[in-house]
Amino acid sequence: MVQLPHTIDRVRGIDFAAPGRQLGHLSIEHSNNEFDGAVIPVPIAVLAGPDASNGPTVLLTAGTHGDEYEGQVLLHELIRTLDPGSICGRIIVLPSLNLLAVREGSRVSKVDGANLNRALPGHAAGGPTAQIARIVDADLLPLADFALDIHSGGAVNEYVPSAFVYAGPTPEVWARKMAAVEAFGQPYCVVVKPNYVSGSISGAADRAGVLMVSTELGGRGTVNRRLLADSRAGLYKLLAHVGVLDGGTPRPGATADADARTPAGPPADIQYIQLGSDAAVMARAGGLFEPTVDLGQRVVVGDLIGKVHFIDELDRPAYEYRAHIDGLIATLRHPTLVRTGSTLVNIAVPMDNPSRLDS
Ligand SMILES: [Zn+2]
Repeated sequence: MVQLPHTIDRVRGIDFAAPGRQLGHLSIEHSNNEFDGAVIPVPIAVLAGPDASNGPTVLLTAGTHGDEYEGQVLLHELIRTLDPGSICGRIIVLPSLNLLAVREGSRVSKVDGANLNRALPGHAAGGPTAQIARIVDADLLPLADFALDIHSGGAVNEYVPSAFVYAGPTPEVWARKMAAVEAFGQPYCVVVKPNYVSGSISGAADRAGVLMVSTELGGRGTVNRRLLADSRAGLYKLLAHVGVLDGGTPRPGATADADARTPAGPPADIQYIQLGSDAAVMARAGGLFEPTVDLGQRVVVGDLIGKVHFIDELDRPAYEYRAHIDGLIATLRHPTLVRTGSTLVNIAVPMDNPSRLDS
């Protein structure tokens, strides 16, 4: 538990030590033709219990990539509906972390083209994305006991519904991450090597000693209703697991008729899968991608994954793509049109004993 400062220089409208619901913004400075010396106000909310010093501080982020939506919707809903009086500690919420990318409906913003989940520790005098990264790394993560960054597959990919965690960095922290993953309750958990992407929020959290889980929920640049209901249930179980809510807190939105007809339920077992550096099957040439597998399907070496049809060469057979490892289809490309280097699928390898990372 961290003693919170009242104010943070680049965060406006928030007293981090005060109880109740506060709405403010990160003050991101940018001057170009559109933003004439203006501030790009990245929205932030802090929801704190009556005696916040008694509980943990949780950092919830979404919109790190602007075209990934379930998390954005869930966090907007949480800000509006969660009663701060039910909170033990504090929840810091940024539903549109890369605001410019969110406004553009794109993974990264055209303003600086930088990938926020590669940009940490960031730079206070850099472009908008570097400034956001800096505030997350230097100001917000150090306040947190637990962090959740909610990703989806984005416009181009669809993922099996997954928690997403960096292995390690120590056996003790790994055991705590697994316990949080079990509370979140998605059908899969993608495990990548420690420090998989050092500029990511997950990488920064490991460096800062902050327990962190990320997610990959669906994708295709849309909101999947079933995934939204499941991840809503998972989010509130996770918040109870880390001790910032008690288990009886009503789930906002869960009383709606539509949700009642599609009750969210945790899967019987979470399948842990490893995504290695050799997971991707990439297009060797551009054309039209015809998948011949489904998301989540098991494959063995040699199985046909899909074909890419050449657009301009009517007598040329389609390239066939086959599994190069045994595993399951963890991601599937959504747009049919591909170019050289496009990732068609990622094949993940199931883990027999995820509590032992060397298994
Ligand atoms: Zn993402």
